[in-house]
Amino acid sequence: MLSGLRGLGVTLRGALRPKVTFEYPKEHLPVDNRFMGFPALTWDVARDEPYCTGCMVCVRYCPTQCMSAKMQDNEKFSEGVSHRKKIIESFEINLGRCILCGICVDVCNFDAIEMSLEHERSERLRNANRVDLPTLLDMGRVYQVEVGWKQSKPNAASPNERAAAKAAGEEAKAFEESVVEPSDPDDSVNTAEETGEDAA
Ligand code: SF4
Ligand code: SF4
Repeated sequence: MLSGLRGLGVTLRGALRPKVTFEYPKEHLPVDNRFMGFPALTWDVARDEPYCTGCMVCVRYCPTQCMSAKMQDNEKFSEGVSHRKKIIESFEINLGRCILCGICVDVCNFDAIEMSLEHERSERLRNANRVDLPTLLDMGRVYQVEVGWKQSKPNAASPNERAAAKAAGEEAKAFEESVVEPSDPDDSVNTAEETGEDAA
């Protein structure tokens, strides 16, 4: 009888214990913002274009050689709305070979690539994890929203912004020069005294 009650107690404690395991993949545990998932490309909302210029620095430093990139002239620079002369044309990462080292993020000078929170990319086919530019940018957009991502330094001024700032500066200077300085009353008193004239 006593051992039966003890057994029932153990069962009840087990039944009432908080859940410590989850039924993956039906349930997913959230990951911390510091988690290092697969690399993703970030999106410059202010310029409405990727941060990536296709400079290839990350490609050269990647220890597994799983990245490739190609740059092109940036039309938005010719239109004066972006400060980036070059922009990424195509980008590919074979996430099946990526070892999540983060070197690509460390060497990028343009805030263009981040280790996202994406970590579940199991595929049946060998090359199914070769991801292209649109996919990397989608992963980046999701990551930016998830962690409230902010670029580390503000964008340089675009040609149009530089021209507007120059025009505004010239306008302000012209206005200052056009304002006539009021004469100092002390000067007129001194002048009257110096000349011996009666100020009254
Ligand atoms: S992610 Fe950064 S380092 Fe890599 S190509 Fe783009 S700008 Fe260059
Ligand atoms: S995290 Fe490392 S292995 Fe993966 S793409 Fe970047 S540099 Fe290459």
